[in-house]
Formats: sequence, C-alpha cells, structure tokens
Amino acid sequence: MTAVLELQQARKVYPGPPPVESVRGIDLCIDEGELVAIVGPSGSGKTTLLNLAAGLDRPTSGSVRIAGQPVEKLSDRQLSGVRAHHLGVVFQQFFLLDHLSATDNVATGLLYRGITAAARRTAAGDALDRVGLSHRANHRTLHLSGGERQRVAIARAIVGRPAIVLADEPTGNLDTANGAQILQLLAQLNAEGTTIAVITHDPSVAAATRRRIEIRDGLITHDDKHDDKEAHQ
Ligand code: ADP
Ligand code: MG
Repeated sequence: MTAVLELQQARKVYPGPPPVESVRGIDLCIDEGELVAIVGPSGSGKTTLLNLAAGLDRPTSGSVRIAGQPVEKLSDRQLSGVRAHHLGVVFQQFFLLDHLSATDNVATGLLYRGITAAARRTAAGDALDRVGLSHRANHRTLHLSGGERQRVAIARAIVGRPAIVLADEPTGNLDTANGAQILQLLAQLNAEGTTIAVITHDPSVAAATRRRIEIRDGLITHDDKHDDKEAHQ
C-alpha cells in the first residue's frame, strides 16, 4: 500500500492571545484507494486538520507528507506545485466562480498544470461527465442548484486525477436528499479508484464509509484502522 497522506504528531497552534492548540498531535496515514470519514463535534479541529492535510496551512510542529512530500521542508512555490498535482479539495461553501460556466469552473482545477486551454476544457468535460453533469456543462453555476454546484466543485477537485480528494463538510449546505446524492457520488468515485477523506459531523456519512476516524479536542480518539482488531490482522 502506498501512503498518499501521512501526518506524524502534527500540531497546530493559532497564536493568541490566548493561543489555541486546535490540533494537538495527530498521527494519521491514508493509503491509496481508501475512503475515510473524519468525524467530530464542531470545534474539535476537523477544519484545522484539513488545512494541514491539504497544505493550506503548515503545522506548528510535526510532519505532514502529501504524496510522499514533506510539507515542512517545501518552499511555498514547491508546496503549491505539490498541491496542484496531488490534491483535490471540496468545501462546504463550494467556492465556485458563479459567472463562469460549469466547464470553465472545472477547468480552473488544471490552471497550474501547464496544459493548453483546449486540453483543460476537454478534461473538464470528462470530469463533469463523471459527476453526472454533462447536460449542465455550459450553464453558469449561478443558475445551478446546491447539489449541482457541489457536483461541479467535486468535478473541479477530481479533474487533475489527484492522489487524494479532501472534502470538508461537503453536504453541510445541502438538504438531506442532495446530501445523500453527494455521498453516493463520493462512494462511486472511490469505487472507481479515487482516494477520498470526508470531514463531517454528519453520522450518516461515517456510516457509509469503511474507515471512520473520530476527533475530539484536537486529538484522534478512534480510528477503525487501529481499533478494529479483525481488520488489523
Ligand atoms: P471544526 O472544523 O471541527 O469545527 P476547527 O478546526 O474549525 O474545528 O476549530 C478548532 C478550534 O480552533 C476551535 O476552537 C476554533 O475556535 C479554533 N480556531 C480555528 N481557526 C482558528 C484561527 N484562525 N485562529 C484561532 N483559533 C482558531
Ligand atoms: Mg470545520
């Protein structure tokens, strides 16, 4: 198994006053092909962990490796390169450019890959097809429903075939039916080979995944990988 994401004693302290130790020493290894749910109450450090895992923030101490590259040893420029090539990130708020078409939004996921605009649009069309949105490719995302917008955001995350997709509360802004469809889509993408970690406080997300990790007060309090003895043999 190849580790696509590895945190060793990762800590994050936000400077105060007073300082807040949001992540207090996390060991976490996600292998190629896994579908992982990271659950925990609001304020437990999930988003802080995502920011560290996505290289959006650097750990105060400890180590974060994305696709084998140690974040703490990379320059900002090198880190941007690692992020552009190996990571896809999905947020609760979608973060789309609403005046652009679905295709153009997805194509922005390839901006730092050094490929032509035409090739970016072709790949964007393929990614929209994978999330079931080909029929909306030319629509501005402004006019799409919440569930469709999150599909566009997921297509943008997978368009570069990243080593791992990290999603922070991807169903948080959706009603139950649309949320369930997004989870189904993530499970389908995983079955097709994409490694995915979903951060959530929704218990139904966790129930749909094989490996569940619980966080409380900045620490992992449960990880199926270690706590499920049968899976461990
Ligand atoms: P979750 O995503 O699980 O709700 P967060 O990672 O957002 O939790 O927050 C964990 C803790 O860190 C909370 O106590 C929060 O107030 C604090 N925190 C998050 N971001 C910052 C920041 N930029 N500065 C100071 N404290 C922060
Ligand atoms: Mg959060």
